[in-house]
Amino acid sequence: MYQWHVLTIGHLSRNKFWGEDEKQSYRMPLCTCTLLQGNGLNILIDPSLPGEEMAEALFNNSGLRPEDIQYTYSTHFHYDHQVDLKTFPNAVCCMPRVDLEELRANFAMISGIWTALTREQADRLVPAEDHLAPGLTMVPLPGHTEGLHGYLFDAPEGRVICTGDSVMTQEFYRAGECYFFGWNMERAIASIRSLRGKADIIVPGHGQAFLEKAYARQD
Ligand SMILES: [Zn+2]
Repeated sequence: MYQWHVLTIGHLSRNKFWGEDEKQSYRMPLCTCTLLQGNGLNILIDPSLPGEEMAEALFNNSGLRPEDIQYTYSTHFHYDHQVDLKTFPNAVCCMPRVDLEELRANFAMISGIWTALTREQADRLVPAEDHLAPGLTMVPLPGHTEGLHGYLFDAPEGRVICTGDSVMTQEFYRAGECYFFGWNMERAIASIRSLRGKADIIVPGHGQAFLEKAYARQD
C-alpha cells in the first residue's frame, strides 16, 4: 500500500482537444510526477523538473528532501520523464529494460534532441524489472515507445496506475487516442484500451489524475 501525491501536474506542448495545431508547439511540456510513500520507501515516478525546482515541489508537498528518495522510476526513455536524476544522490534510478536499451543504443541521437541528457545520467539508470519496489507492478503499455510500462500500486483510494505517455491526459483516454508521434500508433491505441478496468485511478503522462471509470470510452 502506498500513499501518493502528485508533485507536478503535467501539461503538453500542444493539446488537440483544445483546438491546438499538432504541427506547432505552444508551451514547454511538463510531465506529471508522482511521489509514493509506503513500505518504508519514498519513490518518485517520472521526475519532471530541474534540481532546485524538483526539490522545492518535493519539500512543499511532503516535507522530504531529495536525499530521502530511494527510487525513481521512469515510465519511458523520453527526457521529460527522467529530468535531472543527479538531484537524487541516494536513489536507484530505474527505467523499463527495453527503453533503457533503446536509450543506450541511440544515445548520440537522443542526447542531441535533449541536450540536458548526459552520458552520466544514462549510465546511472538500471532496468526497473530488476529493482522493483515491493507493492509496485509493471504493466506493459507499448506504443508511445516500445518499452513503455505503467506502474500499478494499491492506495487508500483504490488501485492506481501511473501510465506515463500511454495516456497523455483524461481527454486522450476518453477518446481512446494516442499522441501524434510515437513508436507504433496501433500498439499505442491497443495499450490505451488494455487499461480498461485495470485501475480505479489513472495518473496520466501530462495531465491531472482521474477516475478511470469516469473517463472510460463507451464502446
Ligand atoms: Zn514521451
